[in-house]
Amino acid sequence: MSETTTTEPKRAKIAICYDFDKTLSPDDMQTFTLIPSFGMNAKEFWDQSNELAKSNLMDNNLAWMYQLIQYSKLKRLPLQKDYFHEIGKKVPLYKGVDSWFSRINQYAEKKGIEVEHYIISSGLKEIIEGSAIAPFLKRVYASSYLYTADGVAEWPAQAINYTNKTQFIFRIAKGCFEEYDERVNDSMDDEQLYIPYENIVYIGDSATDIPCMRLVKSKGGYSIGVFDPAKNARKKVYQLFGDGRINYYAPADYSARSDLTRYMKQIIDEIATREVIKAEQKLLRRNADAYKAYTLLSSMADTIEPSIPAKNMKKLHASIQKMKDSIDGNID
Ligand SMILES: [Mg+2]
Repeated sequence: MSETTTTEPKRAKIAICYDFDKTLSPDDMQTFTLIPSFGMNAKEFWDQSNELAKSNLMDNNLAWMYQLIQYSKLKRLPLQKDYFHEIGKKVPLYKGVDSWFSRINQYAEKKGIEVEHYIISSGLKEIIEGSAIAPFLKRVYASSYLYTADGVAEWPAQAINYTNKTQFIFRIAKGCFEEYDERVNDSMDDEQLYIPYENIVYIGDSATDIPCMRLVKSKGGYSIGVFDPAKNARKKVYQLFGDGRINYYAPADYSARSDLTRYMKQIIDEIATREVIKAEQKLLRRNADAYKAYTLLSSMADTIEPSIPAKNMKKLHASIQKMKDSIDGNID
């Protein structure tokens, strides 16, 4: 019998996944600095890009990514990673976002839970990576460019939208993080998951988030719809809640006394309690599983007894007895 080693119990993990535009930041990230740098206003840019998508049956994200490259050439403003990072620094965030991550991490830690934060956004990865919250993020899944040898954006590397946002929920649950890792499609038992689906939270604001919201909620996790606190426009969240797509809705206020903070603490509390129950059940299952194996082996031994040598049979009975002794309580 192999020696049992005592290891620290693995701390349960929670993944909080965020959309970015209008979820953590009050507008589309391209709107603040990038589009004005071409001497355009945001409406003009989006109208043109949406028209380009419509008239060419293009994905909306591929359309704006193409259009950015076209304008950068026209204005002789090369789109480089450093430039996007600079823009990221200037992207405003909703109230409380700057301190949200460490507050939530601390709260969860007290409950014995580790939180990982992920972005799943249609916006630009390079801009998010330049923003103040980047150090708190385990991973940023977002649209991104392929760069030339000179470091200039040339072609889309990833364009993320609607249902293809959901692949990242599977990646996070299964721990297959790299965008090219095809094992994400392999079937995996719940026990083997890197983060169980019921420990995943998704926060988003709009239609592009619906597939993720639905997926997370239907697998026992938590989806939250947020709306701009200043505009207080709630039509979307009422619809999402009414259609059963979200578990909560709240203003996008991430400060300590906000509804969102309260809901997140409730979720962490519920997950922490469930983890305690799961651990108790694991202990209870040990005896029940051993009993099941014992009865199976015993009946198998009875069946094969006439056909095998007595010496081997003696050995088998000894191991069956050993197994019986390891089970707590009287099972006769
Ligand atoms: Mg959004």
